[in-house]
Amino acid sequence: MTDTRDTPFADGAAYIDGAFMPVRDARIPITDWGYRRSDVTYDVVGVWNGSFFRLDDHIARFRRSMQALRLDPAEDDARIGAILNECVRLSGLRNAYVAMDCLRGRPLPGQRFHPASCRNYIAAFAIPWVWVISPEVQARGAHLIIASPLRIPDRSVDPTVKNFHWGDLTQGLFEAGDRGADTCVLLDADGHVTEGAGFNVFAVIGGAVVTPDRGALEGITRASVAELCGDLGLEYCERPVTAQELRGAEEIFLSTTAGGIMPVSRIDNIVLSDDRPGPVSMRLRDLFWAKRAQGWHATPVDYGDAAP
Ligand code: PLP
Repeated sequence: MTDTRDTPFADGAAYIDGAFMPVRDARIPITDWGYRRSDVTYDVVGVWNGSFFRLDDHIARFRRSMQALRLDPAEDDARIGAILNECVRLSGLRNAYVAMDCLRGRPLPGQRFHPASCRNYIAAFAIPWVWVISPEVQARGAHLIIASPLRIPDRSVDPTVKNFHWGDLTQGLFEAGDRGADTCVLLDADGHVTEGAGFNVFAVIGGAVVTPDRGALEGITRASVAELCGDLGLEYCERPVTAQELRGAEEIFLSTTAGGIMPVSRIDNIVLSDDRPGPVSMRLRDLFWAKRAQGWHATPVDYGDAAP
């Protein structure tokens, strides 16, 4: 593999609307509705040890999100896969955070300011791997709060369409910092748990793994948790989860692309499983990384020359 440490691609590679460039040079036009109206959808796939994880699942979800928002870029799914590979290849990264966005674009010159008059386009990039929750925090278990903002209603913004409507989650992250916690989860107006700042939420209740069936992104890592529960003979259930149930759970863990399965040891200052990651969370987490190491759902990156 080419050593890119001293090239302009060392901190990542990007693609915007037909052109590849170093990530440091990637720019979005200031008049783009993707920027001015959050009129955009996106997805993020991980590369670990030189392989994408569940690449086709991420591209399929990205396509569903684009269709839901009536975004229709020129690139088909195969081309998007090739673009993502090229971003990783240019960066030379073995562990990467790889994003794909579809932006509404700008109205054509002389046309009225309406989303239907815009030419939609793809932007993508690969940068060094990002942890939503650092390995050190994962080792002691994350400290979670239920933050005061409610998640934007799902009838306003469909949470199954991956989106940039993060005003509520961002305020929740500040509140978590103020309360000495690592991260936050938000409730809906009925007091049900939705999701957190970049992750799905799970409770272990009576030995079963339970996760909200509404108000949340249908996480690709969540689908992996369901598979792993099958492997381990654990009951897995998607259903409404109340705040009270979450606070009273035997264990809590979180899941996301940029972190995998991440144990929680405190919620709102309630200490879980002796202030450590719980046993069910650890079994799932260990199996997740063991199977990843064996090539589970892996698509090797084509670096274009022999691996190092
Ligand atoms: N929920 C939100 C709001 C997210 O941003 C993410 C990931 O970024 C997730 C859930 C987890 O989804 P996935 O496992 O597909 O990364």
